[in-house]
Amino acid sequence: MPKKFLIIGVGALTCVSCAIAPMTPPQPSSVPIIERQEKVTRIDERQIPAESFPVKPQPPVAVPSPIAEPSPMVATIDKRQFTPIPPPVAWLPTSLLSLRNISTVPGGIAWITLSSQSDTSPKIMYQKHRAVVLRHGHGWVAIVGVPLDAKLGQHSVIDQETGERYSFRVKHKKYKTQRLRIKNKRKVNPNRRDLQRIEREYLEIKAALATPWKTTSTSPLPLILPVQGRFSSPFGLNRYFNGQRRNPHKGLDIAARQGTPIIAAAAGKVINTGHYFFTGKTVFIDHGQGVVTLYGHMNKILVSPGEIVEKRQIIGRVGKTGRATGPHLHWGVSLNNTMIDPILLK
Ligand SMILES: [Zn+2]
Repeated sequence: MPKKFLIIGVGALTCVSCAIAPMTPPQPSSVPIIERQEKVTRIDERQIPAESFPVKPQPPVAVPSPIAEPSPMVATIDKRQFTPIPPPVAWLPTSLLSLRNISTVPGGIAWITLSSQSDTSPKIMYQKHRAVVLRHGHGWVAIVGVPLDAKLGQHSVIDQETGERYSFRVKHKKYKTQRLRIKNKRKVNPNRRDLQRIEREYLEIKAALATPWKTTSTSPLPLILPVQGRFSSPFGLNRYFNGQRRNPHKGLDIAARQGTPIIAAAAGKVINTGHYFFTGKTVFIDHGQGVVTLYGHMNKILVSPGEIVEKRQIIGRVGKTGRATGPHLHWGVSLNNTMIDPILLK
């Protein structure tokens, strides 16, 4: 029985390895408070010729009374500078407007126009995870990732502050089947020690994916392609390795020569890096608002956990580490802790 359980776990690992962590967004406490300061110009009197000093008689200096009225300095303070500054909001880039028209399918995205007129970003929850919310016109839009194993039919998200629910329908999509031959049989049927390693890695990856949702002042979307190359395996393929069914493909494979630079799909923070049984040398980047990208099978990792990366920064090089039939990048994208088809957001 335990053996059977572990094998099921292996399948689960293949896909979970495609998720990520957060970056440091501007926190309310980090909002700069602008204080007015008197500009004081100091003059070194020794460097000014004596004849240049003013010789005009000065008006008498008023001696302040102990119960004097508020000093003019206090009276001139502009109270507006003390009004709370609203938290930053991320605006919807126009390149994402096309997402409005796509069907919502398993492994896809739901575009939800919110009714909130609030100045602050609504907290939209889908299956216990917070979704990306972007400012659009005078309102807000939620971009929600739908799991590949989602049931067809009606789903809903909830505004956690107002309790308002928004429904959407998940429609059918037929994903193709792929059959692969792997020379290293252990990558298909791991031995006992491999299974222990896989279990450890599963927990590590899961922890990286559970990184808390972070506010961002700019949209974490869209993303850019991390590598130029042929799309060798799309997202969602039903997969058979050496004739045995395994979990579906939860990323986009881009074939490229070994050593080709891999760039960050957006600015963010490296949550974790590792050398995993299935995805090989892997980098996780958190872009904020629950958007996490995964880069697998690298030949070389060029960033470290905790590092802040710019969009287009080189983070590693293409390889074939882990369960791979040739050099390529396995690119995973997670929204609200859900792996979705990366092609939708690039
Ligand atoms: Zn892949």
